[in-house]
Amino acid sequence: MQKLEELYSGKAKSIFKTDDADLFVMEFRDDTSAFDGVKKAKLSRKGEVNNKFNAFIMSKLAEAGVPVHFVRLLSERESLVKRLQMIPVECVVRNVAAGSLCRRLGIREGMELTPPTYELFLKNDELHDPMINEHHARAFGWATDEQLEEMKAQTFKVNEILKSLFDAAGMTLVDYKLEFGLVDGKVTLGDEFSPDGCRIWDKATGEKMDKDRFRQDLGDVIEYYEEVGRRLGVQF
Ligand code: UDP
Repeated sequence: MQKLEELYSGKAKSIFKTDDADLFVMEFRDDTSAFDGVKKAKLSRKGEVNNKFNAFIMSKLAEAGVPVHFVRLLSERESLVKRLQMIPVECVVRNVAAGSLCRRLGIREGMELTPPTYELFLKNDELHDPMINEHHARAFGWATDEQLEEMKAQTFKVNEILKSLFDAAGMTLVDYKLEFGLVDGKVTLGDEFSPDGCRIWDKATGEKMDKDRFRQDLGDVIEYYEEVGRRLGVQF
């Protein structure tokens, strides 16, 4: 497999073509951003930490039967992934109230959500990723009924798998965001799963161990990402 030219560069990752039209190289950079790209920084070693973290989680999900685009690790910062036609909708599950849910609905941070909530957002930084519902997705052609059903089912399946994985390692999976795409018409989990796209709290102390450390200037961002990984069994 040969890595060819860069196809796309996002806020934290870059995608490269390969000599196989169905496979891309996903490179995790040290760049980090929050608040729709307004707050930016480079965090040393973030690329390799998130690459290995994502590989570990995606492999666990694949073992449990979730279709994922991750194929294998290529290097410290690179993974081989299947080419996806991305669906521009972010799927968010919340087990505990935090972030935009608290701001939007005046809910106290930390309230347990049973059953968990499920929300859709349009992936569009200029519009600040507005919340949408399934009717919008259908009406504007972002996803079909069948795709929306499949995205919801996969997002909740991921919750069952990861909630217990984090719990057993002394952490609470508060919320997370997933993005899906299509491979030969099949809804497949894309993007990444890392502490950049979820909230994780220490079960004993309530300490934040995810990207809120960057958003809220709490410090030691990557040290905490690594600690989350170490507890789960990621080999850095
Ligand atoms: N999230 C993300 N990318 C986004 C928006 C949200 O990864 O563009 C993640 C975020 O890290 C959190 C979850 O989705 O784990 C829910 O985010 P929320 O809606 O609370 O928004 P935020 O408070 O991050 O603005």
